[in-house]
Amino acid sequence: MAEAPSFVHNNWFTEKSDGIGFSIKIKEKIFEKQSQFQKIEIYDTETLGRLLLLDGKTMVSDKDEHIYHEMITHIPLNTHPNPKRALVIGGGDGGTIREIIKHPSIEEAYLVEIDEDVINACKEYFPEVSCALDDPRVTVCCEDGIQFIKDHKNYFDLIVIDSTDPEGFALELFSPSFYQNVYDALTDDGIMTNQTDNPFIYPDTVRTTYQNMGKVFQNIYMYWGYCMLYPGSFWTFGFGSKTYNPLLEVSIEKIKAKNLKTKYYNAGLQKGAFLLPQFALDILPDHAPQKRV
Ligand code: SAM
Repeated sequence: MAEAPSFVHNNWFTEKSDGIGFSIKIKEKIFEKQSQFQKIEIYDTETLGRLLLLDGKTMVSDKDEHIYHEMITHIPLNTHPNPKRALVIGGGDGGTIREIIKHPSIEEAYLVEIDEDVINACKEYFPEVSCALDDPRVTVCCEDGIQFIKDHKNYFDLIVIDSTDPEGFALELFSPSFYQNVYDALTDDGIMTNQTDNPFIYPDTVRTTYQNMGKVFQNIYMYWGYCMLYPGSFWTFGFGSKTYNPLLEVSIEKIKAKNLKTKYYNAGLQKGAFLLPQFALDILPDHAPQKRV
């Protein structure tokens, strides 16, 4: 029988990932629902505020959610000189959309989340994360991102894949055919970012993800942030670009002038986040520009 991914014992929630556990002391469970797609649970915790689990895996906590959401958005939005249209696939908690609309150039932002129950639960229990979902520039679509992307060509300046891990109904969001559809839905100078897991704990999975991205994007990069909640906390993000090089075509002065209100991201991290330890560089396909530095 497959090992349960997580458990609660003596008021401690533990997420298990390949022989390693991460534990958080909880106060009480405040929400539980089996949706059409996954089990949604929300806990109140002692130190991280509210905590969202999907199928027993940690997704969002009040205390550290800003790190993931700032990094997956501001890095591409401060690389692209004038991003106007953005799409988020997944991301039903709303944190990625909240960060995207901090950029005044954004005219339209779409959230395409397959599970309406995730959106509704986050609107009720994570008001500071989901607060931008009612912004007039935002359109929320409860549908499968895999289908949605096929119907859009040459439209988005930024596409963020804010998905669950590469398994189950999210697996296809990491496939070459999906990345090809993302590429086609981007404008001629568009950028894609995605969450790509921990390369120390899951080297094979991360290697496969970047190989698949590399079959479509000539310019692929990896960057990282400290996401305490996720296994191992060393969390990586993929950056697929049609034209822009995030290490060269970025003006630190322009970023500072935007005066974005952030708690983790800053102008120094815009380039610094792309500095990788050797084991992570080794995972990237040979044509990745970071390999040549
Ligand atoms: N930051 C989180 C993390 O990495 O742990 C991701 C959180 S976000 C809530 C992930 C969302 O992706 C889930 O709500 C899930 O329903 C959604 N999702 C998974 N597959 C999807 C698909 N094919 N289309 C749209 N949304 C999808």
